Amino acid sequence: MSARVKIWGHLFVEVIRREICTFCGACIASCPVVAISIKNEYPALVGRCVACGYCYNQCPKTPFDWSIVEQKLFGGEATDPLGHVKAVYAARATDEDIMIVAQDGGATTALLKYALDNKLVDCAVVTGVEEKDKWKPKPMVAFNKSDLLKAASSKYVSSPTLTALASAVEEYYAENIAVVGVGCQIRAIRKMQFSNYGYTKYGSKVKFAIGLFCSESFFYQGLINEYLLGKGIDLSKVTKFEIAKGKFIVKSNSDILLSVPVKEVKAYGRKGCKLCDDFSARFADISVGGVDSPPGWTTVIIRTDVGEKLFNDAVNSGYLDVKKMSVKDLKITAKLAKMKMKSATEAAAQS
Ligand SMILES: Cc1cc2nc3c(=O)[nH]c(=O)nc-3n(C[C@H](O)[C@H](O)[C@H](O)COP(=O)(O)OP(=O)(O)OC[C@H]3O[C@@H](n4cnc5c(N)ncnc54)[C@H](O)[C@@H]3O)c2cc1C
Repeated sequence: MSARVKIWGHLFVEVIRREICTFCGACIASCPVVAISIKNEYPALVGRCVACGYCYNQCPKTPFDWSIVEQKLFGGEATDPLGHVKAVYAARATDEDIMIVAQDGGATTALLKYALDNKLVDCAVVTGVEEKDKWKPKPMVAFNKSDLLKAASSKYVSSPTLTALASAVEEYYAENIAVVGVGCQIRAIRKMQFSNYGYTKYGSKVKFAIGLFCSESFFYQGLINEYLLGKGIDLSKVTKFEIAKGKFIVKSNSDILLSVPVKEVKAYGRKGCKLCDDFSARFADISVGGVDSPPGWTTVIIRTDVGEKLFNDAVNSGYLDVKKMSVKDLKITAKLAKMKMKSATEAAAQS
């Protein structure tokens, strides 16, 4: 008798009820009968499950032999917590419009703009914000510069961004797609591409996966509605959030509205992030972050040939200013990657 396929019920028991879901959106996106929706910042079954097992098998938190991905992407397993590194740069967008709205150096948005302008992709799956609920992440399909500018900058609230991958394919018939996401979202994409049970209908269309460094992300209800509104922060004035040097900072242009130790907001973090050992989005084509580069620059780790070509072509076409770095310059990144591996192991032992 063949092994029974794990389905929504297993996902619910093993991931959602244990609260280790990171809300990446992969299960919602890959349900072929659109039976999964969102309730209280978790996936919820709202239709009839057809027991196909796609939701369970795209989830970055369900058991999977990640060495399969390492083998396919890089030809072998990395021994360093930073993962496979081909090259490292500090980069910033040459486009002033991008620099005004970007989180760090706008390299992420500039790379997407280069890919869209040159028709390497039909669209990019990114994360903007809802108009009604200010700073609530909104998965978006971006087709042009104006869309990309709406999605620039970091929302520290978890976003079901991969639901926009379903929109890109099902609503816009996109064949070539770039995706930006945190490590768990990149892992879901790699499962779609390389797992025996992968939702290749979507995975095969992802041409570039840009991964964001990520220490953790937070619940909207907790961080924004309870904490920030409780502190009297006027969300309509907020232009940027930053987590830097152990501080959670809320800005309105150059004014600092709030600066508190990150530990003050820790209670609003997702449990799934505490069990994540992937600070630097190890399975991305290109990983990007703020640490280890000067303010106004993005740290860029090139990991795959595909990522290398995209980056070099964007630089040669004048989309990015760059400064060459080496792995040795990634001191804080390496420290955070190691710390996240250690804390994930400890959290797993306690859970
Ligand atoms: C939750 C979170 C935690 C992070 N933690 C760290 C950290 O600890 N250390 C560090 O160095 N860097 C961290 N980063 C990455 C950093 O904040 C910048 O995103 C990165 O340096 C790229 O900067 P940029 O100017 O090139 O990006 P931009 O050009 O401004 O583009 C930002 C991109 O991020 C995407 N994005 C924004 N919010 C989300 C989200 N919630 N989920 C998925 N995608 C999103 C947007 O779609 C956009 O494409 C984090 C990012 C996020 C979203």
